[in-house]
Amino acid sequence: MIQINKIYINGEFVSPLGTETFDLINPTTNLKTGEVTLGNEEDTQMAIAAAKNAFKTFSKTTKEERIAYLQKMHEAVSKREEELVSVMVDEYGGTLQFCRMSVQNAISAFTTTITILKSYDFEKTAGHSKVRFESLGVVGIITPWNASNSFICNKLATAIAAGCTAVIKPSEMSARQTQLIAECFHEAGLPKGVFNIVNGLGNIVGTEITHHPDIAKISFTGSTVTGKAIAKGAVDTMKRITLELGGKSPNIILEDADLNKAIPMAVFGAFMNNGQACIAPTRLLVPQNKLEEVNELAKKAAEQVKVGNPAEEDTLVGPMVSAKQYDRVQSYIRLGQEEGATLLSGGEGKPAGLENGNFVKATVFTNVRNDMRIAREEIFGPVLSIIPYADEEEAIAIANDTTYGLAAYISSSDRERAENIAAQIDAGRVCINGFSHDPFAPFGGFKQSGIGREYGVFGLEAYLEPKAILA
Ligand code: NDP
Repeated sequence: MIQINKIYINGEFVSPLGTETFDLINPTTNLKTGEVTLGNEEDTQMAIAAAKNAFKTFSKTTKEERIAYLQKMHEAVSKREEELVSVMVDEYGGTLQFCRMSVQNAISAFTTTITILKSYDFEKTAGHSKVRFESLGVVGIITPWNASNSFICNKLATAIAAGCTAVIKPSEMSARQTQLIAECFHEAGLPKGVFNIVNGLGNIVGTEITHHPDIAKISFTGSTVTGKAIAKGAVDTMKRITLELGGKSPNIILEDADLNKAIPMAVFGAFMNNGQACIAPTRLLVPQNKLEEVNELAKKAAEQVKVGNPAEEDTLVGPMVSAKQYDRVQSYIRLGQEEGATLLSGGEGKPAGLENGNFVKATVFTNVRNDMRIAREEIFGPVLSIIPYADEEEAIAIANDTTYGLAAYISSSDRERAENIAAQIDAGRVCINGFSHDPFAPFGGFKQSGIGREYGVFGLEAYLEPKAILA
């Protein structure tokens, strides 16, 4: 049995005062693999105090010193890349393909942040004034389970670049991944208290971070419901917040797109990260007059998707992270049928031979209307909804008819036309003809997909406070 019974405060692995434990369950087998001891309010307060103390000196470090720390972190994390991948596959159930990419994102967070920092000027002029961009203070970093270390590395790298110190509260379901990344960060030899990590529950550790007056900012990734609770709590002490929340992203296929390429890509894209991705293109908008052709291609693509052991090279969809998440996804598959959508592929229940883990069949619904709940709510599983549209105007209207606005996707053989549509979509990131990622471009949501932006200079400035000095 694995025992994770330390948290990280002020440069040391220490035993938490909290005594409650949480079972670590392997999602592929549903067998208990270990336990994590959870920190409590007092542990969180001690972590915040350590970060507050470290901020006094860390905020005064030079750009060169911060670059050197980021470089050391990059080296320490890179060294354990393979372990990071295998623990993520085992603990979270992410596929090997996905976990490799996710760990790469974690590693490159340090190098891209160094690049940004090198050319960033912390002093600018506005009018006849000098504007200093100063470190905000102690940052509370609260992350979910669906790409745990990648979120932690990106947020922490940005905090360090900005001269901030941090208290990190990861998901307790990612405790083994957290332990490994904490060991890497420890090896990097940062000054004591610059980063602190407290495993614990959202309504205990997360709530303490949200309300504590010594936290200046919260960077959160997770559900919109929790994001709203954090925003409400944070306002009492006027904390700065960056909230990266849920999505129900449209993927508009224009009639001039090559369907043979675009449809399989759309299906595989929707199932990326086992469908547990905030940016997943879960609403596939297709021309009504091509619906039959699309259905055929989508069904064929979904049937090719290998659902199974996430450690196998060719698996595209692994298990849901927990039995709770499995039940949630099942309830949406039931709902889709009750709402009158046509089940094209997959459906309720576990795939044959995979009864032990939290496996969901790769599911595609067609003839979905955008007012159905399966088209409006974030399912967070491998469930795709195909929604037909009459013309371009209607496609844009459907794409924007959502409370979310995190990402959108457009496939077309006419780049100018696609860009023209991109300009009309309410989403923080629009990808044309694919699912590319750019760590220098801003990332974040319109509407209820969040507040603020991460990545690039936009992300860095969210950890800085501008101060105008007028002569
Ligand atoms: P949550 O938003 O509840 O959890 C994300 C993080 O926030 C976790 O570390 C969690 O801790 C913490 N948290 C929970 N409640 C509070 C609180 N009151 N104050 C401060 N922190 C808190 O996501 P879930 O894991 O519960 O997933 C539920 C749904 O959210 C998913 O089905 C999916 O739809 C969506 N989701 C979206 C993600 C995204 O990337 N946009 C990521 C994850 C989930 P703890 O683990 O202890 O609850």
